[in-house]
Amino acid sequence: MATQDASSAGVSFDSDQETRLILDSLTEFVEREVEPIEADLGETYTNPRLRHESDGRLVDEVLDAIGEVRTKSAEAGFYAMNLPEDAGGDGVSTVTWYRANRHVAGMGTGLSGEVLAGPEGPKPLLAQATGEQREKYLLPVVRAEKSTAFAQTEPSVGSDSPNMTTTAEKEGDEWVLNGQKQWITNAPYADFVQVFARTTPQEEAGRYGGITCFLVERDEYEVGSLNNAVGSVGRQAEIRFDDVSLPESRVLGEPDSAFYDAMGFLSLGRIELGAQAVGASGHLLDKCVEYAREREAFGRSIGKFQQISAMIARGRAKQYAADAAGLRCAWRVDEGEDAIEDASILKWFATDTFWEIADNAVQVHGSSGLAEDNPFMDHLQTARTLRIVEGTDEIQLNTIAKQMGVR
Ligand SMILES: Cc1cc2nc3c(=O)[nH]c(=O)nc-3n(C[C@H](O)[C@H](O)[C@H](O)COP(=O)(O)OP(=O)(O)OC[C@H]3O[C@@H](n4cnc5c(N)ncnc54)[C@H](O)[C@@H]3O)c2cc1C
Repeated sequence: MATQDASSAGVSFDSDQETRLILDSLTEFVEREVEPIEADLGETYTNPRLRHESDGRLVDEVLDAIGEVRTKSAEAGFYAMNLPEDAGGDGVSTVTWYRANRHVAGMGTGLSGEVLAGPEGPKPLLAQATGEQREKYLLPVVRAEKSTAFAQTEPSVGSDSPNMTTTAEKEGDEWVLNGQKQWITNAPYADFVQVFARTTPQEEAGRYGGITCFLVERDEYEVGSLNNAVGSVGRQAEIRFDDVSLPESRVLGEPDSAFYDAMGFLSLGRIELGAQAVGASGHLLDKCVEYAREREAFGRSIGKFQQISAMIARGRAKQYAADAAGLRCAWRVDEGEDAIEDASILKWFATDTFWEIADNAVQVHGSSGLAEDNPFMDHLQTARTLRIVEGTDEIQLNTIAKQMGVR
């Protein structure tokens, strides 16, 4: 039998030169541009009691700092690197996008989390913008001059989003939008929102058909109460639409096809969150190793106790496996393959692993793991949130089971 080298077998875990350059530049960017902004903010950023107004809204200094990081990141070419070049991005591969997200999350908590666009920024759904929409909505978001939000969840539907009750009806040349959304990230601060509404009843269009995405501007919707989730206070809010008239030019993509469009990008969102979970898990494991070596109890470093070392080693094994799943999933997307099962495996396993590692990181650090001025509880809260957003644990497991033909 002929011998095969690894690359001819189609498998490589090497970063290419372009990716290595991007990751090095990201490190340098965070140190040079982001950390000084954090240092200037000082306690206003690190102390949750100073970071928010009494209703939970982020204070203006923090909002300005976040805006500055995003603008600098856009100028440096990081913020929209995942979007195709014709949509104003850099068109990096999904593998590079995975590695960039993992890399930034590996730097710990803080404003570095704003460097790569989240739901407030340029995402593939918005890249469908055409004509005037590109100039008015997409490109200002790519340049971080405007921010947006993605609104699907409602008081009565989350996972079951095709059953949404927000509607838009055609009256003459206009669409008339009515309904309510909640838990919408960046809604309190966005310049416009991408709103999903039912435009044709399920009986006619089917469960996933008949849903349209509209671009709705800040003065056209009402922001209700903040939905202050522990670990994400001040970021999400309810929004309401009361007979909002919208011209045809506000339809993003084709009418009635928004749910299919969003499903086309589902794997990318899951890859992004998986990468963040893997990166943050790696960061926490490094912190645990450092602490387990230096902290002493009963006359020896705590890392010498088997229960502590096994906790860290088990975490490392799982983080390693989650990373391998992430790279494989991203590679399959780049190869144009169907990565639905891979993305659900990654999202479920990486976020569950992050949750376990974050919990153990608190344990390894004892009381100091609980201290407000340490980041461990922040990570634990983030890990818990990641198990709910972009499809809950149960929805990921349903998807895996469906792909396996069990359901
Ligand atoms: C921090 C944060 C940010 C968010 N940002 C946004 C945003 O920007 N835009 C947006 O539209 N939404 C956003 N959301 C909402 C989020 O996407 C939903 O909360 C999520 O989809 C779950 O919906 P739900 O909370 O209504 O739970 P439900 O769907 O009501 O689920 C409740 C429980 O039932 C389980 N369950 C439901 N269906 C099934 C099933 N078929 N099989 C097994 N179990 C099931 C779920 O897994 C869960 O455990 C955000 C939420 C949070 C916390």
